[in-house]
Amino acid sequence: MTALSPLLRQATPVVAERGEGPYLFGADGRRYLDFTAGIGVTSTGHCHPKVVAAAQEQVGKLIHGQYTTVMHEPLRQLVAALGEVLPPKLDSLFFMNSGSEAVEAALRLARMGTGRPNVIVCQGGFHGRTVAAASMTTSGTRFRAGFAPLMAGVHVTPFPTAFRYGWDEETATRFALKEFDYLLQTQTAPNDTAAVIVEPVLGEGGYIPANTAFMQGLRERADRHGFLLVLDEVQTGVGRTGRFWGHDHFGVEPDILITAKGIASGFPISGIAASEALMRKAWPGSQGGTYGANAVACAAAVATLEVVREEKLVHNAEQMGQRLRAGLESVAADHPTIGDVRGLGLMLGSEFVDADGEPDGKTALRVQQAAVGEGLLLLLCGAANNVVRMIPALVVDENVIDEGLRAWRAAV
Ligand code: PLP
Repeated sequence: MTALSPLLRQATPVVAERGEGPYLFGADGRRYLDFTAGIGVTSTGHCHPKVVAAAQEQVGKLIHGQYTTVMHEPLRQLVAALGEVLPPKLDSLFFMNSGSEAVEAALRLARMGTGRPNVIVCQGGFHGRTVAAASMTTSGTRFRAGFAPLMAGVHVTPFPTAFRYGWDEETATRFALKEFDYLLQTQTAPNDTAAVIVEPVLGEGGYIPANTAFMQGLRERADRHGFLLVLDEVQTGVGRTGRFWGHDHFGVEPDILITAKGIASGFPISGIAASEALMRKAWPGSQGGTYGANAVACAAAVATLEVVREEKLVHNAEQMGQRLRAGLESVAADHPTIGDVRGLGLMLGSEFVDADGEPDGKTALRVQQAAVGEGLLLLLCGAANNVVRMIPALVVDENVIDEGLRAWRAAV
């Protein structure tokens, strides 16, 4: 009998039949509060009526045109809609289907644009599972072990992770930037370095936000040495952090921005944005793929961006994020096994530690499983899988947040 590969390990036993807003409905007849949002994807909630209508209409008109063959209206509209929310100098866009593909596209563009081979990535970063993206991923050995040789030319620099070292943010940042400079002196000379690639909030690496001094430090070094700042906003984009882009918190703009996940409420589409001058340094055919900028995915993305604007979901993410964070901090105050609560907007994590302050993945797993019993779906992250993360749809209101917090307290 054929079966799904045992490689697929599902975080919950739930069989999802239907989704509506922040909820999933299981085949067991139960309603689950989904604080995973398809790993940060269903930004407008499950099956938002406007996204459903846009996709249904497009399915009846044109499912697939193939963008190297023909232009289509949803793609034209998506470019215009993203133009409203991107930094003006990122005026040139290209589309793929997944975060990993967009990371690879950004890497190729950075190399072609600078003529330099190497990239610097941050310790604890996650950029995907294709071989080049996995080569740039250090958030856990499980994403890279066993399929060496990985891509050459990747150099790893610390990310400011104050909590893990018992430091304050300033000390962690000073250390990280000094190590970055040391890397440029000892491992990858500036004129061999195409780009530094970083997430505004380490996602799979444990929901650790960057800070202004660190991001501005990277921007300043990129400008000084002529390499590119690439921001992987696959998880942090489209309002997730309470600003439209994660980098809006830090007053820096990237040379290449990578987007995916929340941009189309669950339809597979991703993209890179850069200046036209940079894009011109690559050549047609060097980027793309058969399914890139699929017409239905583009229509869903256009509808998603409209809903985000009309329903003021970025502001809502900020407000509801504050409420959720306050609740998580209150639970942590009663439970010393939660050593840290952190994140931005509606991208929040609770880190579980043992009595010595070491990562405690076992307790995190037990709490995650207990939460399913309470009707709350959650995911883990961090190298030791000891951070329970909450990434609900951006449409949540006070009642939904409070419902989630009650279930969380019971589970912990
Ligand atoms: N980059 C970041 C920051 C991510 O969080 C992810 C996925 O979680 C990826 C890249 C890879 O995206 P995908 O799984 O769509 O290939």
